[in-house]
Amino acid sequence: MSKVPIAVAYGDGIGPEIMSACLHILQEGGAQIDIHTIEIGEKIYLQGYTAGIKPEAIQTIRDCKVFYKAPITTPQGGGFKSLNVTTRKLFNLFANVRPCVSYHPFIDTKFPKLDVVIVRENEEDLYAGIEHQQTPEVYQVLKLITRPGTERIIRYAFEYARAYGRKKVTCMTKDNIMKLTDGLFHKVFDEIGAEYPEIEKEHWIIDIGTAKLADTPEMFDVVVTLNLYGDILSDMVAQIAGSVGLAGSANIGPNVAMFEAIHGSAPRRAGQNLANPSGLLHAGIMMMVHIGQPEVAERVHNAWLRTIEEGYHTYDIYREGVSREKVGTKEFAQAVVRNLGKQPEHFKPVRYTQEGGPAKVLAIPPYQRPTPPKKDLIGIDIFVNWTPGRPEELAEKIQAVLPSQLKLTMISNRGTAVWPQTLEETFLVDHWRTRLLSADGKPISHEVVIEALKRYHEAGLDFIKTEHLYLFDGVEGYSKGQGE
Ligand code: NAD
Repeated sequence: MSKVPIAVAYGDGIGPEIMSACLHILQEGGAQIDIHTIEIGEKIYLQGYTAGIKPEAIQTIRDCKVFYKAPITTPQGGGFKSLNVTTRKLFNLFANVRPCVSYHPFIDTKFPKLDVVIVRENEEDLYAGIEHQQTPEVYQVLKLITRPGTERIIRYAFEYARAYGRKKVTCMTKDNIMKLTDGLFHKVFDEIGAEYPEIEKEHWIIDIGTAKLADTPEMFDVVVTLNLYGDILSDMVAQIAGSVGLAGSANIGPNVAMFEAIHGSAPRRAGQNLANPSGLLHAGIMMMVHIGQPEVAERVHNAWLRTIEEGYHTYDIYREGVSREKVGTKEFAQAVVRNLGKQPEHFKPVRYTQEGGPAKVLAIPPYQRPTPPKKDLIGIDIFVNWTPGRPEELAEKIQAVLPSQLKLTMISNRGTAVWPQTLEETFLVDHWRTRLLSADGKPISHEVVIEALKRYHEAGLDFIKTEHLYLFDGVEGYSKGQGE
């Protein structure tokens, strides 16, 4: 078998120790890999590269297409960009896959039957990082959810479930509140889910879903969700499974994939041969499946399970009376290597190689852009910075100058409609949304929008942003104000 090139970064803190341990185990397990070492992290940040990586290292990742990454230390202070976010964006790593499993009774957990895979959308949502201060009192971040991005992640979750013999996919959103953005995610889940009749499907609102997952994780199998919810859920589930030192994650893109442990560089434990390499090893096992060497993944995973059963435990999972021996990083790796070829006795052996086993790279078809819908501009929300006063006063100012094609239909403050109906109790800030709709219900032109802005300006109204109100094939592409 020819060797598969992989880019490897040893990282900072405990990174170099756990990476050496994992590469040793994988290679003893038969991995056919051609290692291209790159430098990332603290040292590179401090050389003035704000993302902690040099262009030539990025090129190595691009050439290898597979990146095995140890944790890094992000220096304290401003001006440093997250290396993970940079890599995700550069290489379109849209899916973050994090299997979390309990290893009861060998590793302490309140949830002996936990076996959940979190599939998190990795590029969109609030993580686009588009933030603005709009008024002295109000700050905004844009939550962007796209149909292509959503289709891709939902399809990935179902393909993953199918490939790994999982029975159920649960979608979690907050679409009772965010009807358009989270609503799209839920809708696409229903649409694409219909193509996977053999897989059970369910949807939970994220708040109660999280509570359920924290309380009864055995009810869940694969969970697919948006970026921010997934970020929180995946750490929570990894933690309740037993230890953050155990889980690995895969970041999958169309051309490049990155595999890493979920924990950080644990600087206080560095250089003492203490750290648990298991999280990075689990990431390495996923990588072996990804590069088409499932027999290596299977051999290493089963040897690891056997080692855990035998009670060779690093300090973080060591328990008096349960563990046989507290071992260091190197000794743990040696124990796993000794067990290569053996099967676990308590745990069910892992199978990656049987007929119909996971395809190495899950095939997600490219997005098919449908014929765009008919898009009619029927109004505009103009946001103004106005020192809190009576909403009627603002309404009067606007109505006095409006072009005839528009009518003022609502004013809201922090999303709550405060005009034409005003509730005394509503707390007001200096950021007002004034909703103007086409007076006769017919589409308006951009000239009308420009004229409205000009009139606001002449009336001394400090507009700070606008949002257009469209009908897409006759359906409103905007939400109503609370109480509108
Ligand atoms: P951390 O995950 O490094 O450590 C949290 C706790 O878990 C510590 O008590 C640590 O001793 C323990 N721990 C973590 N991994 C362990 C392992 N493999 N074996 C045994 N114990 C382990 O989180 P932190 O302390 O918040 O962050 C330290 C540094 O890591 C920071 O600079 C942070 O920015 C960085 N970080 C990097 C990544 C990454 O590269 N993907 C992720 C998270 C944090």
